[in-house]
Amino acid sequence: MRIDVVTIFPEYLRPLELALVGRAAARDLVDIHTHDLRQWTHDIHRTVDDSPYGGGPGMVMRPEPWDGALREVCERDPSRRPRVVVPTPAGRPFTQSYAAELAAQDWLVFCCGRYEGIDGRVVDAWADDEISIGDYVLAGGEAATLVIVEAVTRLLPGVVGNAESLTDDSFAHGLLEGPVYTRPPVWEGRAVPEVLRSGDHAAIARWRRDEALLRTGRRRPELLERVDLSERDRSVLAR
Ligand code: SAM
Repeated sequence: MRIDVVTIFPEYLRPLELALVGRAAARDLVDIHTHDLRQWTHDIHRTVDDSPYGGGPGMVMRPEPWDGALREVCERDPSRRPRVVVPTPAGRPFTQSYAAELAAQDWLVFCCGRYEGIDGRVVDAWADDEISIGDYVLAGGEAATLVIVEAVTRLLPGVVGNAESLTDDSFAHGLLEGPVYTRPPVWEGRAVPEVLRSGDHAAIARWRRDEALLRTGRRRPELLERVDLSERDRSVLAR
């Protein structure tokens, strides 16, 4: 997958060179390019913003630099068109299934807004997706882009060593994952649940399912409405 990010703070995207995403890029599993929006300004101050029509506080990102950037970035390969993503608190909520939808694309372009956001005409002309990472307001689209790119990249084939860990993740089956433990078997007087040390794989799988159901029921009961629950699941939840 190719990912382009257009921003006025290219340095902000440096974490994409680290850890899981950085390793995926080093192995050519994802190809990430960051672009400074100010490259597409034509005045001495390299201005990207102006005051909002209709008045009010703050500034709005001007359309011309964005249009110049998107034409150049998106039209670099005339044989295909990327999916253009604009992070915004007014967007479609980002979820694990949305991450999987984006992971199936072969090219994503992220437009990082700042100030009061990007001129609405650019968004109308270019955006395929407007995505919110949660009901709060960040100072810019860069942190949202980092979140989306990391969630998408870990779903790309070969990025996570053991693909089974993806199927056990929270949300993979609509449930939160239950607690996890490692050595030592007893820490500060707290023992690891006996079943996890039993070697009985069927019993372990049942215990994990039960813990996932109970945790989801306690913390995010609304998620259960979309899960196909068996009779056994229902009896666990009724305990
Ligand atoms: N005035 C805008 C509003 O209320 O919708 C908020 C603008 S915010 C200060 C600047 C930029 O941060 C936005 O254009 C967007 O790119 C990004 N942003 C802020 N919160 C976000 C969120 N929850 N999800 C995705 N992007 C967000």
